[in-house]
Amino acid sequence: MSGENRKLSSNNGNLMNIFAVMYFDAHTHDVSAGRNSVIQSSRMPSMEGFFSVGIHPWQVENWSKEMETILSLAKKSNCVAIGETGLDKQVTKDLSDQQEAFVAQIHLSEDLELPLILHCVKSWPEVLEVRKRLNPKQKWIFHGFSKHGLAKEVLKENILLSFGKSLILEPHLGEILRLVPKDKILFETDNSGLPIERIYEKASEILGLEETHLEEIIALNFKQTFTKWHIG
Ligand SMILES: [Zn+2]
Repeated sequence: MSGENRKLSSNNGNLMNIFAVMYFDAHTHDVSAGRNSVIQSSRMPSMEGFFSVGIHPWQVENWSKEMETILSLAKKSNCVAIGETGLDKQVTKDLSDQQEAFVAQIHLSEDLELPLILHCVKSWPEVLEVRKRLNPKQKWIFHGFSKHGLAKEVLKENILLSFGKSLILEPHLGEILRLVPKDKILFETDNSGLPIERIYEKASEILGLEETHLEEIIALNFKQTFTKWHIG
């Protein structure tokens, strides 16, 4: 079934939406994605859908100058998260710039009570150090999760794991997905170009769950995480 609302017949025979289970996408760079997605905005104030805004660790050169724009976008009613932000030791960007920008965005997430979408590549110890120091209360989503050895540690921190194309490309991830408590799972397309349905299909196969049941679980997780998201 496609991402449309399922329609059930009511007692009087009219078609109505009894429940709206859909394919929610926690992180995408596809700016034309629908309202069930959190679109990664790189400063697009006119965007109509729901979006997240932040400074990516690959783009931290002028982070302090950009914070004012980020703040004004983050206050918009359709901004549902801060990020993606975090640390990435695979790129040559100065790590202390990355750390400063990350810390500033954690404060923003706390101040505006918005969840934070985390980008973390080869830098979990550093991310953990910042997290322990700042002790944030808002939910964090580890996006594009694919690291076998990290799952337990990340879950211990009560961080949600968002799975994307790696679930399809890397068979070992199935084992991890099965270990993750159901209320800590989200799905995403990121910049893969894959339809989000493919991720759900693969996950339901891995978990041995009916796809409709899985959709319900993820819809609930999504709504409880992105609390500014709403229907209509
Ligand atoms: Zn991304």
